[in-house]
Amino acid sequence: MTIPALELNDGTSIPQLGYGVFKVPPAETERAVSEALELGYRHIDTAAIYGNEEGVGAAIAASGISRDELFITTKLWNDRHHDEEPRAAIAESLEKLGLEKVDLYLVHWPTPAKDDYVHAFAKLIELRGAGLTRSIGVSNFLVPHLERVVDETGVTPAVNQIELHPAYQQRDVVAWSDDHGIRTEAWGPLGQGKYDLFGTPAVADAAAAHDVTPAQAVLRWHLQKGIIVFPKSVRAERLRENLDVFGFTLTDDEVAAIDALDPLDGSGRVGSHPDEVN
Ligand code: NAD
Repeated sequence: MTIPALELNDGTSIPQLGYGVFKVPPAETERAVSEALELGYRHIDTAAIYGNEEGVGAAIAASGISRDELFITTKLWNDRHHDEEPRAAIAESLEKLGLEKVDLYLVHWPTPAKDDYVHAFAKLIELRGAGLTRSIGVSNFLVPHLERVVDETGVTPAVNQIELHPAYQQRDVVAWSDDHGIRTEAWGPLGQGKYDLFGTPAVADAAAAHDVTPAQAVLRWHLQKGIIVFPKSVRAERLRENLDVFGFTLTDDEVAAIDALDPLDGSGRVGSHPDEVN
């Protein structure tokens, strides 16, 4: 199976679908990532704070898959933005992953109260220059944060990884990113199972029409909108199901019906607000 790739603004490319390992317990990570690689996943999304980079590295080493076929993302944690800490942090991540470079390194959160995300991103530019990561980007950045990094460093992040699912689409952030050549990655693409997304008629009806599961219909919605996704599961049958989303296409009406799920009553956000993480 071929997973489509999207080009990034630095000329590299990224598999549009991958496997995210947030909350995959460290002891289970090697098995889960090995299973994912065996099924055909080639893009893995981890982070220093997940505590499971060693398991990801062990699975990569055991897989025998050549390095250039893999796309590995990890992230700089919030307490390491200052001074030369980003360089020390990526060195630790690379050691745990058993890699000489990652494909994508992200500033995990802007932590705006500390006002050090521009410095952190400037350090990522240096890390890219030193060959420690192929591409650089940010995560959980809102429009004012994106504006500042672009204005003050002169470099546009390749991606912004944000909470994004049908009830919480962050259209302003996605539109700004589209206008500036930044790819959007969705975290929590399935809403982390925290609201009844799968029972919602727009999703359930689309799934039934294509004889797929509601999770597959939602992932397909993301893909058709040009969003990069890496749903998380530790169950082999769900890993397989989440990868099997390239054999059908939602109609424009089905996409529009899922688009209409934001706003839900109140906020559809299931994670933290970027201004509140410091
Ligand atoms: P998700 O929306 O992928 O939800 C994961 C949950 O959905 C699983 O625990 C499982 O219960 C359920 N699920 C998965 N596949 C399913 C299926 N086929 N059918 C039914 N239920 C299914 O949420 P997530 O794990 O938070 O997000 C995906 C990835 O995004 C993470 O693993 C991580 O890599 C990344 N992430 C990044 C940030 C960030 O701040 N940058 C925050 C959270 C997650």
